[in-house]
Amino acid sequence: MRIHAIIVAAGSGIRAGGGIPKQYRSVAGQPLLRHAIEGLLGHPAISGVTVVINPDCRALYDAAVAGLPLPAPVAGGATRQASVLAGLEALAADPPDLVLVHDAARAFVPAAMIDALLAAFNDPALDGACPALPQVDSLRRGADGRFSGSVDRDNLWRVQTPQAFRYPAILAAHRAAAPGQTDEVAIALAAGLGVAITPGDEHAFKVTEPADFAKAQAMTNYSFRAASGFDVHKFGPGDHVWLCGVKIPHEAGLVGHSDADAGLHALTDALLGTIAAGDIGDHFPPSDDRWKGAASDQFLAHAAALVRVRGGIIDHVDVTLICERPKIGPHREAMRARLADILGLAPNRVSVKATTTEKLGFTGRQEGIAAQAMASVRVPE
Ligand code: MG
Repeated sequence: MRIHAIIVAAGSGIRAGGGIPKQYRSVAGQPLLRHAIEGLLGHPAISGVTVVINPDCRALYDAAVAGLPLPAPVAGGATRQASVLAGLEALAADPPDLVLVHDAARAFVPAAMIDALLAAFNDPALDGACPALPQVDSLRRGADGRFSGSVDRDNLWRVQTPQAFRYPAILAAHRAAAPGQTDEVAIALAAGLGVAITPGDEHAFKVTEPADFAKAQAMTNYSFRAASGFDVHKFGPGDHVWLCGVKIPHEAGLVGHSDADAGLHALTDALLGTIAAGDIGDHFPPSDDRWKGAASDQFLAHAAALVRVRGGIIDHVDVTLICERPKIGPHREAMRARLADILGLAPNRVSVKATTTEKLGFTGRQEGIAAQAMASVRVPE
């Protein structure tokens, strides 16, 4: 089942302060929108994210999403409803099975909330699902500073996003919807669709007022972690080597079960180390024939996904390749670009260095290549 997400970020409201639309304001070192995108993109079941923006904010958008693997943003409309419909229409050429519709201002969605949302679709009769929290505070009517009556809070829910739907059903409902709908549940119900209630989470609160930024900052109580990785592969017959995801012509090859990319292997171990998730051999055992000759970019992508499923943010990676030859310098920028692509990072967060060992030791004798790597991440406590 292919699952795609739409994030609505077309609002231009500056009520939350800061002088720019709130989705572009920074919390814990990066824009709210980027937190929202990474939360969905990092979920293993979600294959892609399309963002709907106000085209006037294109420069803010480009800066916020640098390095993330996203399709071009979609231009939003005058209302949230119109913006969501524009996003849905943009998927029509290659329709997903399920679509999640999410607000950029709910930047901190726990993976478990998405798990529960998607699990609702095990019921084939269901068209949609929406996370919600029960209303626990008493509700009262009032006007002009005086209470005038009570509202029964039983069966009342505080609705959150992302809201998930079977794509053809919500597209048809949206196209037919009357204007003035506040969310996709309202549109789905008006169209007679069945929508399940799934567990919401207080972490998925909507940033609205200036004080919400302080709350968001407090919720993103990250701990900084750094971990290292190391790998060696020996030279053998061949006419090229793979290093940091780049194929380099050479008079020898590197010997290994996979493509023997020592740079990617060292960096994979470094990332796994940041979340104490074992090492590359635990996740991709050499005894498993699936990894024979495998391209190692998938090992690194897997490690990055594990960090993001933990809610982690990869701040920086640094690889040092240790060899006399091939010369790394001519390939350095291609390596940085490739690593940035695999990791979904801006290239300025990716460093590749090289050194020799002055002809000493096994690297000096050109018997093999060594790589060491360091990754620094923030992980929520
Ligand atoms: Mg290796």
